[in-house]
Amino acid sequence: AALIGIRVTSMVRRPLDACAEAARRVAEGDLEARMEPNGTGDAFDSFAISFNSMADELCRAIEKLERQKRETQIQLATVQALNEEMADYSVEVQTQRERLHWQNSQLELLNLRLQQMAQTDGLTGLWNHRSFHEKLQEAFALAKRHGHPLSVLMVDVDHFKQFNDRFGHPVGDELLRELATLMQGICRESDVCARYGGEEFALLLPHTDEAGAAVLAERLRQAAHRLATFGAPISISIGVADLDPETASPGDLVAQADAALYEAKRSGRDRVCIASVVHRASA
Ligand code: GH3
Ligand code: MG
Ligand code: MG
Repeated sequence: AALIGIRVTSMVRRPLDACAEAARRVAEGDLEARMEPNGTGDAFDSFAISFNSMADELCRAIEKLERQKRETQIQLATVQALNEEMADYSVEVQTQRERLHWQNSQLELLNLRLQQMAQTDGLTGLWNHRSFHEKLQEAFALAKRHGHPLSVLMVDVDHFKQFNDRFGHPVGDELLRELATLMQGICRESDVCARYGGEEFALLLPHTDEAGAAVLAERLRQAAHRLATFGAPISISIGVADLDPETASPGDLVAQADAALYEAKRSGRDRVCIASVVHRASA
């Protein structure tokens, strides 16, 4: 029995212990653990060979996993770097967008300013000659279509050359500015006050007939006397014309007002002349 015991121990117990030991080492992470095949071709021998190839396979799988882990980490780092770059880029895009927005608003302001400059007179701020004619065309067409009255006043400063000669051009400029302010104060919002050129102004009065325009012209003429703040009397002459069935074009209306202004000058200045009256008198 003792001999059989010794034999069982050497043939079964030891190889089993060796199996258990190798399995325990691998389970604890020792991937170098291998078994010693006994070369007899018995069950323990083939178990040892299988165990060793399983351990080899495990090593290869773990190495592969490690490699994949390293590659994933590299990819992750690349993605992070790209993300940071993108964040920088979007800050830059936002900055550029804000700058563009600001430049656009500046451009709009500039355009508005340019438009104002193209439409208005630099000295007085009134509409300029070209704007007056544009507005006259529109008002003329509207008045003709709807049968509304429409009047034009041509205003000219009397003996302005003498005034300039006496007080100097800058004082003359100041007077023109004051006259412009005066006209704007007397006219309605819907009227058009323009500097026609030099010391000549043109007023366009929609929905106003000859009588109404004459009243306004007279008020303007008298108010101009109060502009004599430079020690010299100031006066203006005014020609008034309104739309009648024979007025063929906007140019006609201006020509009639101009003729009336000419008559105001000719007959002594500081007065208002009405085109229809001038026309009747000359007929
Ligand atoms: P009249 O009563 O016949 O209109 O005489 P006038 O002297 O006013 O007319 P004239 O056409 O002989 O002279 C116009 C003057 O207006 C001469 C010119 O120097 C002056 N003038 C034209 N534009 C301006 C301007 O922008 N500023 C100043 N200060 N003077 C101007
Ligand atoms: Mg004049
Ligand atoms: Mg003149």
